[in-house]
Amino acid sequence: MRIVSGIQPTGNLHLGNYLGAIRNWVSMQDEVAAQGGDSLYFLADLHAISMPHDPATLSANTREMVAALVACGVDPDRSILFNQTQVPQHAELQWLLNGTARMGWLNRMTQWKDKAGKNREGASVALFTYPVLQAADVLLYQATHVPVGEDQKQHLELARDIAQKFNNDFAPKDENGEDVPVFTLPAPIIPPEAARIMSLRDGSSKMSKSDPSDMARINLTDDADTIMQKVKKAKTDPEPLPSEKEGLEGRAEARNLVGIYAVMAGTTMEAVLSDFGGEGFGKFKPALGELLVEKLAPINARFVELRSDRGALDAILRKGSEKARALAVPTLDKAYEALGLVR
Ligand code: ADP
Repeated sequence: MRIVSGIQPTGNLHLGNYLGAIRNWVSMQDEVAAQGGDSLYFLADLHAISMPHDPATLSANTREMVAALVACGVDPDRSILFNQTQVPQHAELQWLLNGTARMGWLNRMTQWKDKAGKNREGASVALFTYPVLQAADVLLYQATHVPVGEDQKQHLELARDIAQKFNNDFAPKDENGEDVPVFTLPAPIIPPEAARIMSLRDGSSKMSKSDPSDMARINLTDDADTIMQKVKKAKTDPEPLPSEKEGLEGRAEARNLVGIYAVMAGTTMEAVLSDFGGEGFGKFKPALGELLVEKLAPINARFVELRSDRGALDAILRKGSEKARALAVPTLDKAYEALGLVR
């Protein structure tokens, strides 16, 4: 089993990023290791240039994301953690696959349609060929499984189509005249339903780095006092908590806080409500604040220390990239050869 997963580097990381994305990587890393497989995790910095971006922010965010991943438990000794840029085989394979991918396939990608919107003529070529780079990201490593959320299913399907067509058109023959496929067709794994964390100020919008109010989110850089204060000031309603989940209907803010408590405590919302049903927020909020502080304090300490240690972060990426390149080269060599490119 070999899983490959990427994330775009973003800054100002918050509880939503941790519970919705990073934590899944940590648990997959453990599950894959238990089966003797490999997990490759990369920062999709090459994808980041498909949209307008600020160069200084991109490099800062790339390093910040590494610090966050490691602080949250991605272990660079057990997983292969790297950025695309330092493994030029991603870009090389993308070019080779551009010969196989069809315009019609890419034109059908709903993300392309959404992101380019009405301004197709002004969108970057990179935005259009983005799914081919994604195909290269996983095919390069002969990934057997790729974790995909709902929004990425279509792109994985495309990666499989590209691999299939490339194998059909170019796979070399063995001595019995049988095709020797160049690429493995990766299977999707649907990650356990990711927690969707909402703003502390408005239960109908998601917690986001772009929310103008810092009180709306818990940042990975927040210290214990700040976390406590944000939880105590979180928007709620005057009713006590219900004892059953149904009682949270129409109470988005209460539901969000109970949901956060449940994931942080590793339990269910039902169990949280059976403990706190009938209690007011005056009792629930301090309990939630303490739980968050207890779980986030060690992450916060590692994160704050590591993000200022550029030498350590660059060393992590260098080491991960070396390991990734070693895995990538044999497949890329096969692809060049299959296409008849003389090297
Ligand atoms: P933001 O909304 O803060 O700009 P990003 O879009 O950069 O966050 O998201 C990075 C990753 O974190 C994505 O995988 C996304 O699904 C996850 N994520 C972001 N916000 C939340 C949230 N509020 N709840 C759950 N997951 C989230």
